[in-house]
Amino acid sequence: MARSLDQVNVETLRGVGPQLAAKLCKLGLRTLQDLLFHLPLRYIDRTQITAIGGIQPMTEVVIEGEVRASDVVFGRRRSLVCRLQDHTGVITLRFFHFSRAQQERLRPGTRLRCFGEVRRGKSGLELYHPEYQHLDSNRPAELEDTLTPIYPATEGITQSRIRDLCGQALTQLNQSTIAELLTQPVGGQDHSELSYSLVDALRLLHNPPPQTALHLLADGTHPAQQRLAVEELTAHHLSLLKLRHKVQQQQAPILQEDTSARDKLLDQLGFKLTSAQQRVSREISDDISTAIPMLRLLQGDVGSGKTVVAALAAVQAIANGKQAALMAPTEILADQHRANFEQWLRPLGIRVAFLTGKVKGKAREMQLEAIAEGTAQMVVGTHALFQDTVVFKDLGLSIIDEQHRFGVHQRLALRNKGFAVTGSVLDGPAPHQLIMTATPIPRTLAMSAYADLDCSVVDELPPGRTPVETTVLSNVRRNDVIERLKVSCSAGRQAYWVCTLIEESDVLEAQAAEATASELQLMLPELCIGLIHGRLKPREKLAIMEAFKAGEINLLVATTVIEVGVDVPNASLMIIDNAERLGLSQLHQLRGRVGRGSQTSYCVLLYSMPISANGSARLKIMNETNDGFKIAEKDLELRGPGEVLGTRQTGDMQLHIADLQRDAHLLPQIKFLAENLLLNYPDNVDPLIMRWLGHSEQFAQA
Ligand code: ADP
Ligand code: MG
Repeated sequence: MARSLDQVNVETLRGVGPQLAAKLCKLGLRTLQDLLFHLPLRYIDRTQITAIGGIQPMTEVVIEGEVRASDVVFGRRRSLVCRLQDHTGVITLRFFHFSRAQQERLRPGTRLRCFGEVRRGKSGLELYHPEYQHLDSNRPAELEDTLTPIYPATEGITQSRIRDLCGQALTQLNQSTIAELLTQPVGGQDHSELSYSLVDALRLLHNPPPQTALHLLADGTHPAQQRLAVEELTAHHLSLLKLRHKVQQQQAPILQEDTSARDKLLDQLGFKLTSAQQRVSREISDDISTAIPMLRLLQGDVGSGKTVVAALAAVQAIANGKQAALMAPTEILADQHRANFEQWLRPLGIRVAFLTGKVKGKAREMQLEAIAEGTAQMVVGTHALFQDTVVFKDLGLSIIDEQHRFGVHQRLALRNKGFAVTGSVLDGPAPHQLIMTATPIPRTLAMSAYADLDCSVVDELPPGRTPVETTVLSNVRRNDVIERLKVSCSAGRQAYWVCTLIEESDVLEAQAAEATASELQLMLPELCIGLIHGRLKPREKLAIMEAFKAGEINLLVATTVIEVGVDVPNASLMIIDNAERLGLSQLHQLRGRVGRGSQTSYCVLLYSMPISANGSARLKIMNETNDGFKIAEKDLELRGPGEVLGTRQTGDMQLHIADLQRDAHLLPQIKFLAENLLLNYPDNVDPLIMRWLGHSEQFAQA
């Protein structure tokens, strides 16, 4: 009987001993199913010979012909140049590295078959360093009969070896050895992506027949690829839904609305909530007043006022005798939250604890104690809150700010803090969880990357904000900008000057910022200039931010450390040096630091030449719109979803064949397929997740 290939070990294949098996294991290739889902990155066509007269530049070709001339040419680099001719034309083969013996064997009259990429060279079309073989009229050389797959680089394993292994696995592939786990949903739309069976799709992708449209394969839009993309995205979606399901099985504390505490907080704010704030605050309040753990993403553009929404939720938790925790990605931001929460919650008799990596010694002990004993009902901090030494007495609500910097793992870790009381992840009460992000996530992306979360959007800015006026200027106009800075600061306004670097280096960034600060101080001796960068001690950073907030510093020269969340309403001018180096969401975050007061704010984006097409496209978008959602959509177009979601750092959502951007059109049906599977084919769910995410850490933690 045929065994399912996820049960058949790679060691059963010809030529695989323990050593090779170990190497394969390192690549996550343990079973024949793993091998079959190890898909080629691209393909080359060695199935047919192209006439030399008909070849196109930038293609890979096999050609045959006779060497007509073979000469060593001296130029900038010495090269061996052969002219190869067939009955349709002639082309140059160029070798920069060659031996005398090789030169001998490429003498005129020799017949060759060559394979390589066609480029435009000095003498017209050329093949640089083609692979070649000598043709022998007695022994015709065979051509490949399928397109040749190129697999992702596998350390210590050659392409031909991996091709051979996949080939062996393919001979065992059929409907009974690999389960078809996706089912056509009944009454759904037209799912043309599912026209390929899994078996046919895998066969084609490992061994595409010669007539297969290479351009479709190259774009990832071939129906066989789309078939697998649907399956992979569905698997991811299901893993998130399962995560959510698992959490919702747990019991959360019921945090009833307490209108008197709520009103007390609102009364002392000095402003009225916008209707968007009221709406999302209601959504959250309703969520946490049930025993199902809340998992909610709170999106809102920079400056939309998410903090106060979080504070209202925290107050509701605390009014019910529970603790609330707020975690921020940086020290500066955590400190700013601490200041806000202290100001807002102290009058309500709530004690705020503060915990970051830099709170040490006795102070730390005291904070930990207050958290453990529950005398601090509100806890603000950085990811230091994850550490094992931090034990909450009774955490009812955890809030994570600026989610794009944290991954699913961290999200889970803070939630698990709530279980610390009972020491068991399974039967303790689960805290409610609120995740806030200022990086608007396009709807389709949010749907797939955050399928485990409900979503609220603060889609309105507080009244009285005037949109930031953005100018894009060449660095040649730097002196004009400095003049403008002088005028603005002497009129009592405050400004930021942000320095950027290409490489991510704290040291170099700090140096660049220091140099800029001294340069500006020389030109603007009457201004008080502050300097802030990642190399400063947290205490120094905080002191400078304090002075800036208090208006003692006119101009703050900074690295991108001020990117997130900082709130100084009197700052109304932002200058970003070499703005072309930054991504759109970073630019938007930075620009969001101004435009928080009532006066008109300005943002100057300085660029230097040469500027890439992509770079100037970004600046143009910044110039055109202040709308974070529009910017996020554009960002997605220009940079791709990995960057937009910040998953480069967090390693979430590692996709093998699907591409969130290219396959965005599939996402609505993915949701549909996933829900259908959960409901009607629950037995398929785990095997599907195992197939695609089986070895990933994300799933292991879920
Ligand atoms: P973000 O959503 O970017 O985190 P914040 O919560 O930092 O925004 O709020 C930005 C600024 O707007 C803060 O100074 C805050 O006090 C103020 N703010 C928040 N809500 C309102 C409102 N409804 N009316 C006026 N100002 C508000
Ligand atoms: Mg914020």
